[in-house]
Amino acid sequence: MHFNHIGNAKVPSVSGRTLPVTDPATGQVYDEIQRSDIGDVDLATKAARQAYESVWLKISAAERGRLMMKLSQHISLHADELAAIEQRDCGKPTRQARADVTALARYFEYYAGACDKLHGETLPYLDGYSVHTWREPHGVTGHIIPWNYPMQIFGRSVGGALAAGNVCVIKPAEDGCLSLLRVAELATEAGFPAGVINIVTGYGHEVGKALAEHRGIDHISFTGSPTVGTLIQQAAAARHCPVTLELGGKSPQIVFADADLDAAIPAIVNAIVQNSGQTCSAGSRLLVEHGIYETLLERLGHVFENLRAGPPELDLDLGPLIRQSQLQRVWDFLSDAHVAGIPLVAQGKIVDEAPDTGYYQAPTLLRDVPPGHRLAQEEVFGPVLCAMPFQSEQDAIRLANGTAFGLVAGVWTRDGARQFRMARQLRCGQVFINNYGAAGGVELPFGGVKSSGHGREKGFEALLGFTVLKTVAFRHG
Ligand code: NAP
Ligand code: MG
Repeated sequence: MHFNHIGNAKVPSVSGRTLPVTDPATGQVYDEIQRSDIGDVDLATKAARQAYESVWLKISAAERGRLMMKLSQHISLHADELAAIEQRDCGKPTRQARADVTALARYFEYYAGACDKLHGETLPYLDGYSVHTWREPHGVTGHIIPWNYPMQIFGRSVGGALAAGNVCVIKPAEDGCLSLLRVAELATEAGFPAGVINIVTGYGHEVGKALAEHRGIDHISFTGSPTVGTLIQQAAAARHCPVTLELGGKSPQIVFADADLDAAIPAIVNAIVQNSGQTCSAGSRLLVEHGIYETLLERLGHVFENLRAGPPELDLDLGPLIRQSQLQRVWDFLSDAHVAGIPLVAQGKIVDEAPDTGYYQAPTLLRDVPPGHRLAQEEVFGPVLCAMPFQSEQDAIRLANGTAFGLVAGVWTRDGARQFRMARQLRCGQVFINNYGAAGGVELPFGGVKSSGHGREKGFEALLGFTVLKTVAFRHG
């Protein structure tokens, strides 16, 4: 049984209700978490406010940094334990679970070093005045975190908020919260004062909604679906609370005929297979210049046929999806593709060791996907890659920008001038030239345009969003 983490204590839900925890690799229930609601959000928000006013505001930025660095070190020391928790909770293959812990430790390391380097400016102004800008924390920040990368998204969102001087109330997804409850304990051991990091678990429509509507929350950072993102923004708008939204994408990999295919192919495959395609920045559309369309699909087909999905501890190319409804969602998309006559190029295998009760999906490569079809427009959030040809650079831009989303894009070409033209014209938050994802880089600001959301997380830029700028003008004659 797991409890909420409020004021550095293990706290049962006010209502006494709990939720089962399911292992996606087997479909079996193996634990329980608290099913929180507004009563628990109230408690967590009060604990956070108390900590903010009585302790956190008074701690120097350097000391905040030391605490965050200590937590980073604690996370690294407990890397195996955290990876094992995440593997069971979210079905992640071993390498992915470990990579998530490494990224979490790195976020806290990066933001630890940023705490005492965030400051305002002195502005030139009229004679007799001195004008300063101060970067102040919002106060109590709310963080609604999805199940696909609980630790990484906690690291980037909570790490940035803490570094900027905020205290946090966190609502993880009910399908991916166990690692974060352990991280909160590690924070207590590292010396974080009670109330600075609070976690309340439960359903989005109960505890998540309560958090988004709560007047004690001064800023909300949300990562998840566009539909829920709209609800969050509406709830926040009612009390003029600022929000950062990261809502996923339908990100293109654009391959020109002059591309280095030996470099592109592994990156294209990884971008849709990583975490079983359950990645906001998954490269889920493949746009290929017509001259190499057949060649590239043939080569990719061979790779896809050899991909394997199976139990997380076997550390294959893919683990299970997070839950039955997510698997059903992928099946619905594939069934639509079949009905529309969209050709299947290749599909990987689910290994025999995978229990029938687990949520496994073989990675799938589709071709000639019509640009207007929902497979080319909507986020599948599974290992399904949709290929389509393009004729010219302008055609590639039109297709790439032709969805409601705009999160990231990958461009593969050796032509330097074209690299710049493409980067300029792509409407999205990150562009990768001859790579995809730049190895994750916590230093690199991340976020979207259009339905992919707004605001930036990661990098130093995120700290600006986690602060409020105050202008102070002195008249001294
Ligand atoms: P989701 O419903 O948007 O969930 C994301 C987070 O929001 C979770 O913590 C969720 O809690 C919470 N939430 C749900 N309803 C809420 C509400 N009414 N008010 C406040 N918070 C709420 O996403 P999902 O159902 O897990 O996945 C559905 C689709 O969303 C996926 O197929 C994918 O397309 C997209 N998605 C995108 C990302 C991304 O990284 N951009 C991440 C996850 C999902 P509970 O899960 O505990 O209910
Ligand atoms: Mg959910």
